[in-house]
Amino acid sequence: MELDYEKLGLKSGLEIHQQLDTNKLFCNCPSVLRTDEPDFKITRKLHAVAGESGKIDKAAAYQASLDKEFIYQGYDTTCLIELDEEPPHEINKDALKIALQISILLNAKIIPLTQIMRKTVIDGSNTSGFQRTVMIAKEGYVNTTHGKVRIAGIFLEEDSARPIMREKNLAVYRLDRLGIPLVEIATYPDIKSAEHAKETALKIGGILRSCRVKRGIGTIRQDINISLKDRQRVELKGFQDPKIMIKTFENEIKRQKKLIDSGNTMEAEVRNCLANGESEFLRPMPGAARMYPETDLPLLKISRNLINEVKKNLPTLRSETEKELKEKGLSQEMIKLLLKQNKLEEFRELTEVTDNLQLAGKILLIIPKEIATREKISIIKINKILNKDVLAFVLESLKKKKISESQVKQVLEKIVKGEDLDKAIKFEKQDSGIIEERIMKIIKEKPGLSMNAYMGLIMKEFKGKIDGKQAMEIIQKFAK
Ligand SMILES: [Zn+2]
Repeated sequence: MELDYEKLGLKSGLEIHQQLDTNKLFCNCPSVLRTDEPDFKITRKLHAVAGESGKIDKAAAYQASLDKEFIYQGYDTTCLIELDEEPPHEINKDALKIALQISILLNAKIIPLTQIMRKTVIDGSNTSGFQRTVMIAKEGYVNTTHGKVRIAGIFLEEDSARPIMREKNLAVYRLDRLGIPLVEIATYPDIKSAEHAKETALKIGGILRSCRVKRGIGTIRQDINISLKDRQRVELKGFQDPKIMIKTFENEIKRQKKLIDSGNTMEAEVRNCLANGESEFLRPMPGAARMYPETDLPLLKISRNLINEVKKNLPTLRSETEKELKEKGLSQEMIKLLLKQNKLEEFRELTEVTDNLQLAGKILLIIPKEIATREKISIIKINKILNKDVLAFVLESLKKKKISESQVKQVLEKIVKGEDLDKAIKFEKQDSGIIEERIMKIIKEKPGLSMNAYMGLIMKEFKGKIDGKQAMEIIQKFAK
C-alpha cells in the first residue's frame, strides 16, 4: 500500500538520545555498564508527585496506580547520588562541552543561562522519581534531501536506570546506567515520510559520532512522534536499528489510519517498538505537568569564553576532512562548498563510485545549481531529482564507459527534464568511422584553421551530439 503522507496530514518529528563518553552527569562515577552480580539491592515504591502546575501528571498517576515495587541493583561504581540519598554535584564539564560541540555542529543557538529541570519519571527507572534535564541550545537545523529539518532543542540529561526485568507488579533496574550523560536532540515536526525519518536520523547520528559519544547497541535511542491530521500524537519509542525504522513508521501510520477509518477515537500514547517492525502500547502520553526546577543546583551559566573554547576545539571532523580532501586533490573552493552545503556524506558515497573527486564535487555541488538557474527550477527540487543515487548511477555509467565525461552534464539535464535514467545515458550512436570521415571532410574543405575553429565547425555539423573529447582526438589526428 502506497501511503500518501501529504493527504494524511502527517506530522512527525524525531527525538534522539545519545550517551556521551564521559563520567556521569551529576557525580563522578564512571559510565560503565556492569555484567557481574550486583553488590547490593534496594527496594522502593513510586509515589506520584504534583508537578509545577500543581496537578498530578496523568502518566505518573497511571504508573503509581499500578502499585509497583522497584528493585535497584547497585555496584562499587555507583554512589549515593544514584540512590538519591545525596544532592547532585555540579554538572560534568566534559559532558557539557560535548553537548556544546553537538549544538554548534547542529547550527543551534546556545542558551547562556538556564535552569536545570526535573522531569517526572513515571516507570521507576529513576530512584528519585525524576530525571534531571537542561536545555543547552535551541533553533538549530540539519540539511536533508527534503530541505532543512529544524531542531527545536538540544538537552543534556541523565540516562535512566537500566531495566533488567519488568513485570506487572515488579521491576528490577540496574543503577550502572543511571546518570550517564545523554544528549537529547528534538526536531520540529519537519519529517515528511518514513524514508525521510531514517535519513534525518542517520544524518544526526553522523554528526553525533564525530563527537566523543559512546558507541554500540543501546548507546543511541531514537523516538519518533507521529500524528495524522487533527489526530492525537503517538510516540514510538526505542528504535535502535535505523533499518527497521521505515517499516515501523509505516505500520504505525496504517494502524492509525485503520482506527480513523473505523471511526474509533485515538488516545495520545507512547508505544514501544518491537524488533519485527510492530509496536505495542506502553503508557498514556505524559502531560505538561512533568517539569519543575531542580532546586539543588545553581543556574547553569554558559559563558562566551566556554563557547569560544569549544568552537576552537570542534571535533576534528571539519578540519581533518578539509586536510584529507586537499591531499586527495580536491580544490579549496570545492571543499568550502562541500562543507558549507553539508554534503560531505553524499560526497563520500560518490567517491566510492569514482576516483575523480573533482567531478564528484562538480556533479554534486555545481552542475545542479547551473541547471537550476538556467531552467528556473528551485535547487531543492533539482537536488531531489538529482539525489545521490541518481548521481552515483551517472558516475557508474561513466565508469562503464557508457557515457563520456563531457556528456555528464547533458545526462543530468536530461534527467532533470524527466528522462528515465536508462534513456538519459543513451546518446545517438555515431559510428566512429562515419564520424572520422565527416571530420576529415570538414578539415579538407577548410585547411589551415585552428583546432578551436575546427571544433566549432564540427560541433555545428553534429548539432552538439558528439563527444567533444572524441572529436578533439580526431581533429588532432588529421589537422596537421
Ligand atoms: Zn555516582
